[in-house]
Amino acid sequence: MYVVYSTPTVILDDLEDNVPAEWKFILLGKFYAPKFVDSEVIKKELISDWEILKDVEIIPLASGVFKVIFEILREKRKVLKNGPWSIQGYVFSVQPWFANFQLKDYPFEWIRLWIQVFGLPLERNRPFSRVQVLFHLQNPLLVERSVRSDNKVFTVKFKYERLPVFCYFCGVIGHNYRICTK
Ligand SMILES: [Zn+2]
Repeated sequence: MYVVYSTPTVILDDLEDNVPAEWKFILLGKFYAPKFVDSEVIKKELISDWEILKDVEIIPLASGVFKVIFEILREKRKVLKNGPWSIQGYVFSVQPWFANFQLKDYPFEWIRLWIQVFGLPLERNRPFSRVQVLFHLQNPLLVERSVRSDNKVFTVKFKYERLPVFCYFCGVIGHNYRICTK
């Protein structure tokens, strides 16, 4: 299941058929860190986090932006589908190739989050549902939300998987409450 969680936007899904051959094994990644991290360190952390068997090549393209070249298509897909990924707690946003996009316009700020939703009606027969959402990095994470169903209102709670550093005060990913400016 795939739902749009925050402000409506166009979802550019992975239409791999349209990807030129030389881009098929490549993802672009942006590292949202407040400090410089050596690309060898980035590579080591990513490979262990991704649990992939083959090597990847990581080529810096611009400040904080990298081209990640996979050896196996399956491993590239796995990385794209799962996540969110982070290095030392900071987001490493991965994106597939998109036609007619300049690097500066790449939608790195939209990351895929897996969310466990608790408190849905019991007839669902599961303790929680797991959904993937596209989430904008500037939006605050929600802890719970009221949902209306069949004229009943109930509260669902969210648990986020593999959450990077975020602020307990304003709910935004990428900084902690000690340096929050809100
Ligand atoms: Zn904050």
